[in-house]
Amino acid sequence: MAKIIENLAQIQVNIEQAKKRSNTEQQVHIIAVTKEVDVARTTEAIEAGLSHLGENRPEGLLAKREAIQQTASWHYIGSLQTRKVKQVIHEMDYLHSLDRLSLAEEIEKRAQHVVKCFIQVNISGEESKHGVTAEETIAFLHSLKEMTKIEVVGLMTMAPYTDDEELIRSVFRNLKKLQQEVVALKLPYAPCTELSMGMSNDYEIAVEEGATFVRIGTALVG
Ligand SMILES: *Cc1c(COP(=O)(O)O)cnc(C)c1O
Repeated sequence: MAKIIENLAQIQVNIEQAKKRSNTEQQVHIIAVTKEVDVARTTEAIEAGLSHLGENRPEGLLAKREAIQQTASWHYIGSLQTRKVKQVIHEMDYLHSLDRLSLAEEIEKRAQHVVKCFIQVNISGEESKHGVTAEETIAFLHSLKEMTKIEVVGLMTMAPYTDDEELIRSVFRNLKKLQQEVVALKLPYAPCTELSMGMSNDYEIAVEEGATFVRIGTALVG
């Protein structure tokens, strides 16, 4: 297994090059997705300088939080069952998978602080993917108006798993367009300045298209 610090150095170079190619200047935060690795490897990630960690199951999040003492920002990136909200909502700093009103209502009921949320959007329209459709996004956002515990910090998507770069790019570009529409609404509870997109296979394209959070597992800690 390669050292995380070396993987990270390479990924940082790739991200800088992607920003240059596209002439963009956004700050890109790397989320180390630790769902497939153990506590020791996660600790190595923190020691390499990674301060954002991502988990996609309640059990994984709880186990890592229990074992790891260092300060980090914890991102919950998987789909979240409504009945699991109370177990994990106070263990995360960001939720990347807000995708339905029933989930928002449960968060509103259980959370004791404002939760930073990304609305997950199924831009590609694949049936296997979670998320609201692009067409539903604005209406969904308005339905969150009365919720005092939800701040929509951004939008999140997953691109299709394919070699077709142009298809991947169009998914990211459409998420960015949608984000700009949301920003223009100037909703106090939805600044929506962030874009969570890009994984091991496609983070460079995502950065070119404006990602501010990339979620990287395999290429970084795998
Ligand atoms: C697993 C996962 C990732 C990271 O995937 P890699 O291909 O290993 O980089 C990113 N986002 C989500 C939502 C995931 O479930």
